[in-house]
Amino acid sequence: MPRVCAICSHPNREEIERALISGESYRGISRQFALSPDALYRHKKDHLPMELVKAEEAQAVARADDLLEELGKLRRVTWGILGKALAANDLRTATQAAGQARSNLELMAKLEERLRGGVTINISVAPEWITLRAVILRSLEPYPEARLALAQALKEAEGAGR
Ligand SMILES: [Zn+2]
Repeated sequence: MPRVCAICSHPNREEIERALISGESYRGISRQFALSPDALYRHKKDHLPMELVKAEEAQAVARADDLLEELGKLRRVTWGILGKALAANDLRTATQAAGQARSNLELMAKLEERLRGGVTINISVAPEWITLRAVILRSLEPYPEARLALAQALKEAEGAGR
């Protein structure tokens, strides 16, 4: 029969766990919270590791959220550079910005995939990327050579991403 853990159901559980993690003696904690040292030992061995893993996962998700926000900002900057470069017919900068925008989108897709628990998002079919690619290729129409080179590079990059 499973025994109910006195620490898991304790109102001061967080405080007790902090004491356990900081290495206070079982005797000291057991006196402070009127718990048996055995129960403390069992909780630390069997229950605490799972709690720590869960806390770490929660932190990882929070970090990923922050990263997504940063990537969102970076994306706006990249799109700005791309727009200006295309307007100025600066193909070199435009190609660089397009590559940057693409890897940015790819990273965001990966992060979102992790946050959503493993739903795979294929970047080459992401609507934003298709729009971006169409804009770039259209604006390069007066430059067939550059257009062809970029289209080829994009195709290879998409193939490699799979
Ligand atoms: Zn427990």
